[in-house]
Amino acid sequence: MATLQTAIQGAAGSVAVIVPSRPDPVVVTYRDLVAEVSSFQQKLAAIGIAKGSPVSIATVNSYEFIVSFLAASWQRGIAAPLNPAYKQDEFKFYIDDVKSAIVLVPRGAYQSGSPAVNAARKFNAAIAECYWDPAKKEVALDVKELGQLQGKGKQPALKPEPEDIALVLHTSGTTSRPKVVPLSHRNLTRTMKNIRDTYQLTAQDRTMLVMPLFHVHGLLCGLLAPLFSGGSMVVPTKFSATEFWQDFITYKANWYTAVPTIHQILLKNPTPSPLPFIRFIRSCSSPLSPTVFHALEKTYKAPVLEAYAMTEAAHQMTSNPLPPHKRKPGTVGLGQGVDVVILNDASDVLPQGAEGEICIRGENVTKGYLNNAEANKTAFAKNGYFRTGDQGKKDEDGYVVITGRIKELINKGGEKISPIELDNVLARHPAVSEAVSFAIPDDLYGQDVAVAIVLKPGARLAQDELEKWVADKLAKFKVPKKVYFTDNMPKTATGKIQRRIVAETMQKQDD
Ligand code: ATP
Ligand code: MG
Repeated sequence: MATLQTAIQGAAGSVAVIVPSRPDPVVVTYRDLVAEVSSFQQKLAAIGIAKGSPVSIATVNSYEFIVSFLAASWQRGIAAPLNPAYKQDEFKFYIDDVKSAIVLVPRGAYQSGSPAVNAARKFNAAIAECYWDPAKKEVALDVKELGQLQGKGKQPALKPEPEDIALVLHTSGTTSRPKVVPLSHRNLTRTMKNIRDTYQLTAQDRTMLVMPLFHVHGLLCGLLAPLFSGGSMVVPTKFSATEFWQDFITYKANWYTAVPTIHQILLKNPTPSPLPFIRFIRSCSSPLSPTVFHALEKTYKAPVLEAYAMTEAAHQMTSNPLPPHKRKPGTVGLGQGVDVVILNDASDVLPQGAEGEICIRGENVTKGYLNNAEANKTAFAKNGYFRTGDQGKKDEDGYVVITGRIKELINKGGEKISPIELDNVLARHPAVSEAVSFAIPDDLYGQDVAVAIVLKPGARLAQDELEKWVADKLAKFKVPKKVYFTDNMPKTATGKIQRRIVAETMQKQDD
């Protein structure tokens, strides 16, 4: 069961996917899903997709995403999902980095010349619209340009092997450019099993899938683990606070996983009626405050299980367990199928209570970054443990407590924003001399984006001009919420910027 083909475990006649729109819900059984994926695999093979071909998918959460993702991996290709909200420069960066053979875009994107389409053309990737065709009742692969696949010819339908790379995703980039994480079928199926075991998922379970499928959170926990358990999922195209509980109740979902920001938004839109079927709520990707934990448990009368995950681990590393075992707010619980230790710089395992770097080992962990010898040099400790870059300890019960990030990423409700990328965009503005981005606390998102700016002598710049500059170049969620103009950027003796010090100095101005 170590590939995404053999690990789809549902009984043929049982429901796999429910899409709650269009205008009637589409209900897909495992039999239909497997047939649809096989048929889409044939379509990919017919235009030349074969072992190792990177297939970028730039569509919102949808049935066509699920089908194209699975089909690419069954054909021994490499799925490379991309946030459909990216701007052209972002698409260019990611498409170039993963060397996409083809970019799948939504219906109409070709005609309108969407950012993904323009970026794909620049790198001679094939471009195809991928959508549910209601007339033919199938997921269409509508090829618009063959690009580099021109002349490749029809390939035979293939069968994936456990060591094949099935997925590549980028980290968000802290000290350097975002790193490319390759994950094999074996890595992914191990996480599917780990998540199934942690939450005792079965064919009776149904999840509301609201996390984006272009991150490991939604992809592994929302989609793949349920498919491995033979259960089902409700897949709206996007998260809507008002429709969430309506769909949850209508389709009798019994659990969901989300980032703390989504939990907080949901708490402001309480359930329309009691939820007799809810079994548990999972929180992951950013710290869940104990206040929100208690509010969730009180409102929904269900256990809230906080988990800890990262891209390089194919998502989950630890989680709080289901009752009757205890769950502890403020901790991320225990490793399940993953060996978790706290190491010091010399790679010695530290005793309980001592703080060090959280390190992990397991079949779920990537073998190393793609084309990045530099990062791979320091990614693994002497004894084969992967260094997460997070600081933490184990408490008296062995539960992991995250005490800080060694890195400096801005985590806006689970969306990781690289301060370096933002610095670079800001520094390109003609009026800007220096720019240093950092996180500020935010009630809703946990963190939001702030920036300290030194202007060039005599230059003027209004905050809204600066916001527009960023919004034109980067996704909207990266636009700074707060801008500090300063004449004096704090630096170390050697002239280096320390982001944490800049953040502290600037925020003192607020007091
Ligand atoms: P990069 O590797 O480029 O620095 P990143 O590590 O932030 O990016 P992801 O793989 O998306 O990118 O996120 C993993 C990180 O998210 C973890 O290393 C940890 O810092 C944080 N994280 C995940 N879950 C939790 C949690 N429950 N509580 C606190 N932090 C969490
Ligand atoms: Mg990381």
